Amino acid sequence: MQEAIFKSSVLVEALPYMQSFHNKYVVVKFGGSVFTQDEHLHNVLQDLVFMRQAGMRPVLVHGGGPFINKAMQDKGIKPKFINGQRVTDKATLNIVSDVLIGHVGERIVKIIESFGGKAKTVNRELAIVAEKHMPEGVDLGFVGKISQIKHDIFEEISNNGGIPVVSPLGMDITGQLYNINGDIAAWKIAADLKAEKLVFLSNIKGIMRDMHNDDSLISTMRVERIAEYINNGTISGGMIPKVKAAENAIRSGVHKTHIVDGRLRHALLLEIFSEKGVGTQIIKSTDPEGYATSETLKLYDEFVIGNYGRLPVVINKAKGSRIWDVENKSYLDFFPGFAVSGIGYNHDKVVEALHRQTDELLHIGNNFHMEAQAILAKLIAQHSYPVKSFFCNSGAEANEAAIKLARIYHQGKRNKIITTIGSFHGRTLGSLSATGQESLQKEFTPIVPGFTYIPFNDIDALKEIDQNTAAVMIELIQGEGGINVATEKYVKKLQETCQKNGVLLIIDEVQTGMGRTGKYFSFQHFDIKPDIFTLAKSLGGGMAIGSMSAKPEISAALVPGTHGSTFGGNPMACRAGIAVFEAIDEEKMLDNVADIQKLMLKKLQSLKSKYNIITDLRGKGVMIGIQVAKNGMQIMQDCLKAGLIINCTKGDTLRMLPAINITPAEIDEGLAIFETILEKHQ
Ligand SMILES: *Cc1c(COP(=O)(O)O)cnc(C)c1O
Repeated sequence: MQEAIFKSSVLVEALPYMQSFHNKYVVVKFGGSVFTQDEHLHNVLQDLVFMRQAGMRPVLVHGGGPFINKAMQDKGIKPKFINGQRVTDKATLNIVSDVLIGHVGERIVKIIESFGGKAKTVNRELAIVAEKHMPEGVDLGFVGKISQIKHDIFEEISNNGGIPVVSPLGMDITGQLYNINGDIAAWKIAADLKAEKLVFLSNIKGIMRDMHNDDSLISTMRVERIAEYINNGTISGGMIPKVKAAENAIRSGVHKTHIVDGRLRHALLLEIFSEKGVGTQIIKSTDPEGYATSETLKLYDEFVIGNYGRLPVVINKAKGSRIWDVENKSYLDFFPGFAVSGIGYNHDKVVEALHRQTDELLHIGNNFHMEAQAILAKLIAQHSYPVKSFFCNSGAEANEAAIKLARIYHQGKRNKIITTIGSFHGRTLGSLSATGQESLQKEFTPIVPGFTYIPFNDIDALKEIDQNTAAVMIELIQGEGGINVATEKYVKKLQETCQKNGVLLIIDEVQTGMGRTGKYFSFQHFDIKPDIFTLAKSLGGGMAIGSMSAKPEISAALVPGTHGSTFGGNPMACRAGIAVFEAIDEEKMLDNVADIQKLMLKKLQSLKSKYNIITDLRGKGVMIGIQVAKNGMQIMQDCLKAGLIINCTKGDTLRMLPAINITPAEIDEGLAIFETILEKHQ
């Protein structure tokens, strides 16, 4: 059963590749060394038949190495060289053509037929037109260079369901044959047929960073780096012409080239039908670099400041609620992008909006007006109440702006700002000073003066709000602080007290905003209209953007010269923000949050009654904290290994903030993984 499931999953992984390569040419070149064992040859040819049956158009270019050497020995012909280049005289040419077209070519056709495929050799026709080649004026006899590929001959064989089989021989119009270089023939054919891929099967694993270290295989290399690798000796000897041929193919429009070990069973299929492949692929510069995990981690060690506790996983790709690491392991993400990818990773609407905007305008200074910024500001107001917005690039900056607005609004007469213990408002000095966690501040003193911290959800403590207070800044659900939800009574009293004392109420919606709690903004659950609220994280669908929105009579205090941000509200970020609002509305994501919340709570409640390491469940919408009695970090790391991303805050609170468009099936899948880990820790 397990094995059957495994086999099916392999097939499923292959499907998108089959679809995207349908009807596309894949030129495969294999050198003589593959012939040294019949098993390898059969293996490669069977893969080719599979590719043809799966709808691709494989073309085979073969060498004949060991057979040619043997035939020459048998006839007593000694190889001749001029300047290190093999000379092809009449007798040699006869042997080469007999062996290649006659012996090897026909044998390949027979083996392909034995696997139920069709194949035809092309060299007896004028498929490769060649002329005599005299490199640097040296006469090497019947050595030719390609002047033309007759692609209609390839097309005809391929249209009839066959595999063209090519020997590295060219012909001129008089019918004279020439010995040509097989690697060059392969790339010229690939370029001419506009092939999707060119695959070199040889007797090496691929390009190694260090020849003596098997783990140093370079699985992806950009074409621009070839010269550098040749210069530093990583690519050397016989590899150079192959890699140059690969480079030429890419530069003439072939999508990818691969250098793969032909001795490996089903190397061809593995390379073509899986994400990561088994050899080295050479790609255009627009594709990602393709470092192995260890290589990227090493660069981090050396060049990136170590201010984060990072998971040892490298991610280049994500979609919806799923991410893939560079080893092609996939993870279901219940904490996408630290709450930034609230509508899932790379949402189509956001991606499309950005594509359109990149063509028009990446940046314009805030000394001009820009349409996208105006529209996004309008959308924020339409989804809340009449507010005006200022844009910046992060949550911390949004809160900085709110703090500055509160102080300038009171014209310096009040400077006290009250926040809550356990809150999190950002890492810049101002927002850090607002953050009610001494542990985060103590190494950066003196912090910005004027901040007072009161216990969260403590009605009594609201008496701290007085006529010297400029503002209260608060998260209605503390995020980093452990998913602590404010009570309705507390929020009502808070608003009343602020109003009574002329104190501005600032709600930090950086984590709770944009649908996270089932309404656009968490304050909408409490039926209040704060004077100021801040957004960031999910607002940009993955782009860096923050906003500070305030009632117009308050925001009027920010006159020119008082505050600003160079990048703030740039057209790219704002287009992304607009797309996020559209996606949430058009795809009715708030309704989804209601459904998902029910489903998650039901399942988590049942897990809580089953596993007593869960001591508490807290949250709203899809912002859920699960307090555990055991090491939360360990549970989080075990989930990661099992393919589920969650977060842990305060050491004992597991945080699940899945995308607000996550599906019930994905929730089931993730919580099933979660349960296996709980079981282990019980
Ligand atoms: C993440 C967060 C911030 C800080 O946002 P940055 O974009 O990291 O500066 C501020 N407030 C809350 C509630 C947050 O969750």
